Amino acid sequence: MRNGQEPQKFQHNIIAICYDFDGTLSRRSMQEDTIFQEYRIDSEQFWKGINQTAKDEGYDKVLCYLNRLIFDPRFQKEPLTETKLTNMARKIQYYPGVENFFPYINEFIQKESSKLNIKVNLEHYIISSGMKAILNGVAIKKYFKEIYACEYEYNKDGTPKCVKMAINDTTKTQFLFRINKGKLRLDQDINEHMDEEERRIPFFNMIYIGDGDSDIPCMTVACKNGGYALAVYPSEEKASEKCLQLFRNKRVNHIAPADFNSGSTLVQILETVLKTITQNMVLRRSMYDQKQVYADG
Ligand SMILES: [Mg+2]
Repeated sequence: MRNGQEPQKFQHNIIAICYDFDGTLSRRSMQEDTIFQEYRIDSEQFWKGINQTAKDEGYDKVLCYLNRLIFDPRFQKEPLTETKLTNMARKIQYYPGVENFFPYINEFIQKESSKLNIKVNLEHYIISSGMKAILNGVAIKKYFKEIYACEYEYNKDGTPKCVKMAINDTTKTQFLFRINKGKLRLDQDINEHMDEEERRIPFFNMIYIGDGDSDIPCMTVACKNGGYALAVYPSEEKASEKCLQLFRNKRVNHIAPADFNSGSTLVQILETVLKTITQNMVLRRSMYDQKQVYADG
C-alpha cells in the first residue's frame, strides 16, 4: 500500500454537461423573447446595429450590446431593472423537451451507473453570452450547478449602472477550465498549476453542447482535451449549413436536431456518450485502485 497509507478514494466520478443557451436550449436569443418583445425592438435590426457599431468603433460585440441596453435613450427612459429582467424569463421559448430533459437524464445516469456498480454525479452548467439576470428567472434554473453569463452592477433602485461581467466567444472557455479545476467562483485563481489527477472534472468527463460559431472555442477546448462536443440545429429543420460546417471541420463529434425529448436523436447520442464515459470511469477506477496498491515499492 502506498506509503503505508489507506488508498484515497477515486475522485473522477463527476460528469459535466455544459450548455450554451441561446439557440441551444432556447429557440431564439433570450433578449428576443424578453426585452425586444417588451420594448418592441426588431431583433434583426438591433443585432445589425450592434455589429455595425462594433465594426465602426472597435467595440467588443458583447460589451456593445450590454452597454446599449443601459445607455440607449429607450432604456434610459425605461431602465431594465434586475427584477424586470428576471421576471421576463418566463417568456423564453425552449426547444421541445428541454423542461423534462434534466430530470430524465439525471435518472438515466443513476440507473446506468448503478448497473456498473459505480456512483456517478451528473452536473449541468450554462455558459452564455446572454444575461445572468434573465437566466436567474428561468424555470430550469434549479437543474444547474452554476450559470455563467454577462452581468450588470445595479444601482440601489435596481437600474443597471455598468457592466460587471462580459462573456464573449473566447472568454467562454475560461469557464470550462473553472469546471475542470473545480474553481467555480470568479474570485478563485484558475491559472495556478493543478495536476490532472487533482482536477475535479477531467475533460474526458465533459460534454459541451452549442449551436454555432460562437461555441467553436469551447467545442475545440472540450474535444482537444478528450471531451465531447455536440452541435444542435432547430428541431424542425434539416441540419443547418452552420452545423454541417462544425461537423465537417471536426469542431464537434455529433450534430442533432435540438429535440430534448427522450428517444430523440440528441438524447440517444447523449445517452451513448454518458454510458461510454461511465464505462471508462469504471476502467479508470480499477487502474486507480491498482496504482494505490502497487505503484510504490
Ligand atoms: Mg448559441
